[in-house]
Amino acid sequence: PEGFDVATIRKDFPVLHQNIHGKPLVWFDNAATTQKPLSVINAVAQFYATDNSNIHRGAHTLAARATDAYEGAREKIRQFIGAASTSEIIYVRGTTEGINLVAQTWGRKFLQPGDEIVLSILEHHANIVPWQMVAHERGARIKVVPVNDRGEIIMEEYTKLLGPRTKFVSLTQASNGLGTILPVREMIQLAKRFDAKVLIDGAQSVAHIPVNVQDLDADFFVFSGHKIFAPTGIGVVYGKRELLELMPPWQGGGNMIQDVRFEETVYNEPPAKFEAGTPSIGDAVGLGAALDYVRKIGLDNIARYEHELTEYGTERLIGIPGLRLIGTAQNKVGVLSFVLNNLPNEEVGKLLDQEGIAVRTGHHCTQPSLRRFGVEGTIRPSLAFYNTREEIDRLAEVINHIQRR
Ligand code: PMP
Repeated sequence: PEGFDVATIRKDFPVLHQNIHGKPLVWFDNAATTQKPLSVINAVAQFYATDNSNIHRGAHTLAARATDAYEGAREKIRQFIGAASTSEIIYVRGTTEGINLVAQTWGRKFLQPGDEIVLSILEHHANIVPWQMVAHERGARIKVVPVNDRGEIIMEEYTKLLGPRTKFVSLTQASNGLGTILPVREMIQLAKRFDAKVLIDGAQSVAHIPVNVQDLDADFFVFSGHKIFAPTGIGVVYGKRELLELMPPWQGGGNMIQDVRFEETVYNEPPAKFEAGTPSIGDAVGLGAALDYVRKIGLDNIARYEHELTEYGTERLIGIPGLRLIGTAQNKVGVLSFVLNNLPNEEVGKLLDQEGIAVRTGHHCTQPSLRRFGVEGTIRPSLAFYNTREEIDRLAEVINHIQRR
């Protein structure tokens, strides 16, 4: 697309410029984690070089700077996902911790025996197991929305699953195994007819499509920094203020309190109420820098470019004899899961690595979605905006070569 220069963008990512087994690295493992631009690496280094302190604003100059940097990043996150207030932005370690937080606070308080939690079959284990744990504890039940043979949600089935017992709906916005983009806006509207609360797992969407939590009317929205070009160890739970007010805290400790006596503790207001202990301050600063970087390129540009690349990759891959693409939704992010008829996935992964091409093989923490298609695992190249057509050509050539042997 116009205004999108992938050669220039690639210069921002030092890690991309190296050889693996004598071949230029092709990073096609973006659904697992993304690479970091220099601006993020520098922001983290700069924080530790000049501003490092714990966040207790009043104490001294570095404490004030660290607090400003940490809270400044929170404001960037608010803007990036279109939340109404920074009090709705809670820092966590990542999507997994975020979903556990919601399940263990909202879920434990509000789920009653016989209540139903609706999930899709496309969910990552991080959006299944926390709900199983709280459902077991509270006597609630889990219902699963099926997909068609392309890996798209069957909306009639979803509608049928919803009812007066539906208390909570938790859905991924984009599937990490198949790439399907779910129509979450519509799905949230349908859930609201029964007054159910809805969590959207944004781990695979925020870096690839524009997101606005108020437009979606999501009650909770969760994502991981490391999947959007930020460091590991930092992630976000967005929650509507009125819900966060009603939820009990999760972990107890410093920062989440207003007043502690042995008789009684008064908790802090959100978001501090959910941020016990010293947070990942430097990583939060890195996340702020990553969002600045993405905003500069523009998610519309990113989505358009990646869509073209995904279509191109799909075309190249489906032309290869004996290759079965899994996940052929109309609307998808750049996840190109496939299996080969005559070779185990792990072996293909190793052969690709020999050629410098990094892909993930295995179940990708989404076993139910792969079993729906009769496989236990796939080979999964996954794209980001720094990938190129030439890299896809190389992937296709190597797979063609493997298949011909
Ligand atoms: N949900 C989805 C859709 C994911 O792709 C992932 C990461 N693979 C997660 C949740 C878990 O994220 P994290 O490991 O960063 O907590």
